[in-house]
Amino acid sequence: MSIPVVVTHYDCRRHRPGIGHPERPERLSAVLNHLPSGIPLLTSEPASAEDLAYAHQKQYIDSIRDLSAAGVVTYTDPDTVLSPGTWRAALGAVGAMRWAVENVVSGQTQRVFCAVRPPGHHAEWANTKGFCFFNTIAIGARMLQRRYGVRRIAIIDWDAHHGNGTQNTFYDDAGVLYVSLHQYPLFPGTGRRSERGKDAGAGYNLNIPLAPGSTDHDACQAFRDEAEPAIAAYRPEIIMVSAGFDGHVDERLAGWMMTASGYAYMTRRVVALADRYSDGRVISLLEGGYHLPSLISCVNEHLRELRGRKPGNATLANEH
Ligand SMILES: [Zn+2]
Repeated sequence: MSIPVVVTHYDCRRHRPGIGHPERPERLSAVLNHLPSGIPLLTSEPASAEDLAYAHQKQYIDSIRDLSAAGVVTYTDPDTVLSPGTWRAALGAVGAMRWAVENVVSGQTQRVFCAVRPPGHHAEWANTKGFCFFNTIAIGARMLQRRYGVRRIAIIDWDAHHGNGTQNTFYDDAGVLYVSLHQYPLFPGTGRRSERGKDAGAGYNLNIPLAPGSTDHDACQAFRDEAEPAIAAYRPEIIMVSAGFDGHVDERLAGWMMTASGYAYMTRRVVALADRYSDGRVISLLEGGYHLPSLISCVNEHLRELRGRKPGNATLANEH
């Protein structure tokens, strides 16, 4: 058993896309106000602009900072709205990731869940996309590589939307195995099986597209049959999770029919893989999830599984 730490930054609430936008501050409040008992919640320092540069162009970073400073509320792409607090929120989110990286590498903690927003996995090198400004998990993986010399990182992305930004960041990099389960077809339109990486990264990008209507059984079977063997063969030194929960049956931005039990199962398997190959080390990051009651229950199950269940208590109804 290893107690996972939840890390956040209160500036993450300052990004305000406006009334009616699904990616709203209340998401984070809901998660933080309903954490399972006994799991510590910490607040990190904010990141720096230099941290963002691990996965983004400098001019782009400056443009987001300057737009936020200008005090405007403006669309930066058809889905993404920048507000005066967006810059501070992004630095808070990446600051939580930096805390996770530093403390997991040092051995201070084994498992961290970064409860932050805005999400990140659609953000590209020099543009926003799909509610995302900066790719927090990609920045974290680059920190692990370049500051700490970690040579094999597995990123598992089970948000219902494909993580185009993460895939592109590491598409030619054998040092990151990117494994995505996502609904296809769906925004952003990437994530075909044929996208397998290029050059040195060829074979280190695994897309597992699942049809609309997919259930816990479908996702868990795909995870067990395809994701697990790939991760086991790769033997990652650390496992990162882009933990989006918008495939829940009650969510409206995707068409999967998953429940919290499915996310619990996948988390349990991640923990088993990490215990076997990665000294138990897991850094998880909140990505999507917009229906607050289901988001709360999914995050709760995720954290309980990161903590580890007692032997004999480990079988859910959907265990294969
Ligand atoms: Zn999503």
